[in-house]
Amino acid sequence: MSEVKKTIDAERIRKAVQEILLAVGEDLEREGVKKTPERVARMYGELLGGTFDDPNIHIESVFTEPCDEIVLLRDIPFYSICEHHMLPFIGKAHVAYLPTGKVLGVSKLARIVDCFAHRLQCQERLTGQIADFLMDKLKPQGVAVVLHASHSCMTIRGIRKPGSMMVTSALRGIFKRDARSRAEVLSLMHNDKGQ
Ligand code: ZN
Repeated sequence: MSEVKKTIDAERIRKAVQEILLAVGEDLEREGVKKTPERVARMYGELLGGTFDDPNIHIESVFTEPCDEIVLLRDIPFYSICEHHMLPFIGKAHVAYLPTGKVLGVSKLARIVDCFAHRLQCQERLTGQIADFLMDKLKPQGVAVVLHASHSCMTIRGIRKPGSMMVTSALRGIFKRDARSRAEVLSLMHNDKGQ
C-alpha cells in the first residue's frame, strides 16, 4: 500500500504565527506584519524541509570502486534548527568514510547532511544519524562525522556567548576501534584549519 507523503502543515503554522503576533501585541492588519504568518509558514517549510524527506534517495548513486583509502568531504556548510528553542544552529560538517569497494557520488554526502539537518534537531543526534545512516547503507569499514556549530540559542539569548562553537563527533567501525585510523581521519579533517 502506498502511503501519501507527509508534508509540513503550512496552514497550521500560519495560524500559530498569528497567535504569536497577537501575543506580542501586534496588529495583524499592520502593513509590515500582514503577510508575516504566510512568510513564516513558508520559511519553516524550507528550514524544516528534511523532516519528511527520505535520505535513501541519496544513496542510489553508489559506484563500485576498488578504493580502500579514506574519502572525506570537509567543511560542508550546514544549518539546522535546535529543537529546544527553535533557533538555528549553523556550522560546518566533515564527513569521512573508509570504503569497502563502494563509493558514493560526492555531492550525496552533502545532501545526506542537509536531509538530516533540515529537521528539528539536537547536534549530538544529528551527528550520530549521519554516521549511522552511512554505516548502514554503504557498509564501509568505518565512518567519521564531526560537526562544528554556533547555536543561536547560546549566542543571542540565555548565556549569550557569541563565538562559542559546539563540536560533536560520531565515530563508527574502524575509526572507533583503531587509534591509528582515527588519528588519520581526524588529522585530515583538521589539517590547515584557519589558513
Ligand atoms: Zn537551543
